[in-house]
Amino acid sequence: MKHYNCIIIGGGAAGLMCAASAAARGRSTLVVDHSNKVGKKILMSGGGRCNFTNYFVEPQNYISANPHFCKSALSRFTQWDFIALVDKHGLAYHEKSQGQLFCDNKASDILNILLSECEQHGAVIQTHCDIHSIDKQSIDKHEHFELKTSQGQFSCDSLVVATGGLSIPTMGASPKGYQIAEQFGLQVSDKRAALVPFTLSNRWLDICKQLAGVSVDVVVENQRQSFKEALLFTHRGLSGPAILQISSYWQEGESVKINFMPDTDVQNLLKSWRSEGQTAELKNLFKRLDKHSLAKNFLNLWLQGWANLKPADLSDQQINDISERLQSWSCKPSGTEGWRTAEVTLGGVLTDELSSKTFEAKKQPGLYFIGEVIDVTGWLGGFNFQWAWASGWCAGQYV
Ligand SMILES: Cc1cc2nc3c(=O)[nH]c(=O)nc-3n(C[C@H](O)[C@H](O)[C@H](O)COP(=O)(O)OP(=O)(O)OC[C@H]3O[C@@H](n4cnc5c(N)ncnc54)[C@H](O)[C@@H]3O)c2cc1C
Repeated sequence: MKHYNCIIIGGGAAGLMCAASAAARGRSTLVVDHSNKVGKKILMSGGGRCNFTNYFVEPQNYISANPHFCKSALSRFTQWDFIALVDKHGLAYHEKSQGQLFCDNKASDILNILLSECEQHGAVIQTHCDIHSIDKQSIDKHEHFELKTSQGQFSCDSLVVATGGLSIPTMGASPKGYQIAEQFGLQVSDKRAALVPFTLSNRWLDICKQLAGVSVDVVVENQRQSFKEALLFTHRGLSGPAILQISSYWQEGESVKINFMPDTDVQNLLKSWRSEGQTAELKNLFKRLDKHSLAKNFLNLWLQGWANLKPADLSDQQINDISERLQSWSCKPSGTEGWRTAEVTLGGVLTDELSSKTFEAKKQPGLYFIGEVIDVTGWLGGFNFQWAWASGWCAGQYV
């Protein structure tokens, strides 16, 4: 049985970062992954360009039952540390918006940086490796883990679980990390798909289908959060950054409020058009006002019969109805698109079970959890990768 100082289960963002960090300290390190290749989510991320971090990373950009847990790692391995790594490898990147950093070329550039760091420090990567069993053994008071896998038996002093979340099962996602946590007596919270499009039904779905592909800048909010970003109509309902963000704060059966003209006071505007005696149709007046964000079909479909009315003829009730439809639409999704398209998993291994400094399980010395498998979920915008880098690097300093 081959022995390593450290075995990492899962060769994704967190696992590879941890492997590079541990191997750089001289720890013999093995990464095992059941997929045919490592880093698949890195490759598909950011539309193929990987939004690898964000200039403005704050603990407030993360959702967790314990909002303080992420602070330590995020402050010890920051976005600037990852940017320094990327600069060391000469990678070209750019800021898209709101501090989000993307590769100029391909997401594989980020994966190649991690693979080259692993190779340089001698970390070994074993793909096509299914874990059959994990046992903790004690020989002469020295505890270690023994793994039976489809690629043979291995043992290690430190075992790191970096199996990620449940989203996109076709990319290798599995519940293995949660099962390992439970095997060793750690609590795991309920898990939900997040950063995920909403599905709608009935007449709203019909309207969405007709508007599919149209993007509008909105403010979307509920009692917990508010986001000002783009909304995208789809054949199944609503997507785009605004919807993905609020989906992480949404629970089944709830509504969210959407403002399609966040920079305009529509009620006042309609009243002033009425007092001026405007006789042009509303759709044309609105188009003149904001021809970019309110695409051609949007007003016709969204306001339906109202779009053809003239401000001079509007009643107070109609002014209220129109401004509510445009600025305070209460949207009750029938659900989400689920794990098939979600970017991340809310919930996971409870942070109370882990040290925020080392990521070691308090009840199980030698067992570590990092990345998305933990109950820490970032916003859209490079925050999830930054969590993977930070937690992976920090654990790598202790394994
Ligand atoms: C479509 C998409 C786009 C995204 N874009 C971005 C983005 O641009 N920016 C951003 O910050 N975040 C993005 N994310 C989120 C980001 O990819 C994840 O948060 C991040 O990859 C989590 O890192 P991780 O290492 O914890 O898990 P993962 O990267 O998911 O890695 C887990 C690894 O564990 C392996 N594994 C799973 N089960 C087993 C098992 N039973 N045995 C062995 N190995 C196993 C998997 O094969 C995988 O290699 C995106 C996610 C998706 C789905």
